[in-house]
Amino acid sequence: MASTSEIYGDPLEHPQKETYWGHADPVGFRSVYDEAKRFAEALTMAYHRFHNLDTRIVRIFNTYGPRMRLDDGRVVPNFIQQALQKNPLTIYGDGLQTRSFCYVDDLIDGIYRLLLSDEHFRSILEILPEISILQFAKEINLLTNNPAGLEFHNDQRLGDDPQRRQPEITRAQTILHWNPSIDLSTGLSRTIQYFKERSI
Ligand code: UDP
Repeated sequence: MASTSEIYGDPLEHPQKETYWGHADPVGFRSVYDEAKRFAEALTMAYHRFHNLDTRIVRIFNTYGPRMRLDDGRVVPNFIQQALQKNPLTIYGDGLQTRSFCYVDDLIDGIYRLLLSDEHFRSILEILPEISILQFAKEINLLTNNPAGLEFHNDQRLGDDPQRRQPEITRAQTILHWNPSIDLSTGLSRTIQYFKERSI
């Protein structure tokens, strides 16, 4: 079951361990997504416990890489498109909120390892260090030689946008022997190349 870091809501524990139950607002802006994924996890575990179904739950954090949708509004396509057009990158809020980004190949490797393991419970599969959206934007401007800088949009940051997101991945490392191999600048360079080939 492809779950998400969103099940933690706006977490109060850092980093987020798999055992953390989360801090999600049931009526917040993101609640339909958060609660749907929480319910899907609950159902998966119920089928596993009651019907003995062979299950795996993966809590996926922010993933990026070639073949992302160019216009889905998430931070990676937005920033790369803006940078390639030599426009300022749009930071929502103060940019101090953090995310942990994982390159798609590493994620797939982790999911595959989980599939082949005996782990029925859940495993989160991201490791790249926590980075603020501000630092992330600067990295993209650097890699694309974008002189246009940054632009702050305080009104664009929706309530419920998690302030910090960083997984605790010890179990994935010890049980699945999983370790991401693509660092942020290598992964971003490959993604930028992909966007260059497809952008107008
Ligand atoms: N964000 C931003 N500028 C953008 C798009 C997103 O500053 O043009 C911020 C957004 O407010 C959030 C973070 O980047 O704090 C990641 O947003 P995204 O939608 O990619 O994924 P999320 O992790 O919030 O699900």
